[in-house]
Amino acid sequence: MHMLYRTVPKTGDRLSILGFGCMRLPKKGGKIDVERATRQVRIAIDRGVNYIDTAVPYHNGESEPFLGQALADGYREKVFLATKLPPWQVHRPEDMDRILDAQLERLRTDHIDYYLVHSLDARSWEKMDGLGVREFLDRAKAEGKIVNAGFSFHGDLAAFREIVGAYPWEFCQIQYNILDEHNQAGTEGLRYASERGLAVIIMEPLRGGRLARRVPTAVQAIYDQAEIERTPAAWALRWVWDHPEVTVVLSGMNEEAHIDENLATADAALPGSLDPEEHALIDRVKETYRALMQVDCTGCNYCMPCPAGVNIPECFSFYNNYHMFENRTETKIMYLGRLGGILGTEAYAGLCRSCGKCEKACPQHLPIRDLIGDVSRTFEGRTMKIKVPLMKVAFSLAQRRLIR
Ligand code: SF4
Ligand code: SF4
Repeated sequence: MHMLYRTVPKTGDRLSILGFGCMRLPKKGGKIDVERATRQVRIAIDRGVNYIDTAVPYHNGESEPFLGQALADGYREKVFLATKLPPWQVHRPEDMDRILDAQLERLRTDHIDYYLVHSLDARSWEKMDGLGVREFLDRAKAEGKIVNAGFSFHGDLAAFREIVGAYPWEFCQIQYNILDEHNQAGTEGLRYASERGLAVIIMEPLRGGRLARRVPTAVQAIYDQAEIERTPAAWALRWVWDHPEVTVVLSGMNEEAHIDENLATADAALPGSLDPEEHALIDRVKETYRALMQVDCTGCNYCMPCPAGVNIPECFSFYNNYHMFENRTETKIMYLGRLGGILGTEAYAGLCRSCGKCEKACPQHLPIRDLIGDVSRTFEGRTMKIKVPLMKVAFSLAQRRLIR
């Protein structure tokens, strides 16, 4: 077995097409199982993985210090290390320098190879730009504390284009998988960034594992018809890697068997290597998922922006996830985190004022107002107005403890 590598256009770095994401490490007694996780990270590196991704909030702040020690014994030198600046903890320009210095210490290193501004959307970019993040990144590069600057992204396509053009980024990180071709940055964003010379790192290639485990029976039946036997995870990953614009696909691995499987899948994943029949099969899988969705939203974004600030396609994406997959509690928490305004900008369904503007623009002629009401009832309930500020305070207190 051998690892494949793809080149970062602006620097010539050769990155392994499979990256190790340290947000879902194996746990024991509620904490990272340090021994097992260290073994897993090192085995992956020994087998050719050279891109390791972490961030301040992963594992309640434990992921960065864990990685600092997991990469001892010469492993740090074998990898490109990626971590992220949390915009929600930046209130003054000097916070950025302070956080980066703390991260270097936690990661036991003198430089971060790939440094990202975490989870940007239009409003968090505006805030960070106003606080001088571009100057901060220039300074951190000049001082050698970071090598490459990038951003991870969860907003809409217009914001993505704006951010790509606002700074000479070496790379970006987007959510992309067989069901997110038209969500957030999507295929158009992927191509846009790649055409401008950015390396593109992919997160959530399996939508948090949902495209891999306990897939709906109708979807499994399609995979079972394939001539080549592959697991749902292997099919979904191969589809992402088939795009030549993709540089690295991150996988949050925590089981030895998954690491083996992902490494084996990566082995043959050259761009453009799926044949027309394989693409047709994946198209049928996508159609089947779509048929199972509650809301037939294509994520085209024509309804945006909403004057009340609702992120309509994201609301529907969470709502569809909620009905398509198990693990509903996690979907609810993610909804509150992302759209409730804790990790990004407030954009939840309950903000809707029923103006009807969106419905005039929707090519699918969806009854958006009614559907948005369903989303609000499912995820928010009557206590949303109290729940969100309380969660924000709790989150901010918890985060303050993570990094000072
Ligand atoms: S009806 Fe609601 S969701 Fe649609 S544009 Fe108006 S406020 Fe936004
Ligand atoms: S216009 Fe309609 S289909 Fe397009 S994103 Fe909005 S709700 Fe979805």
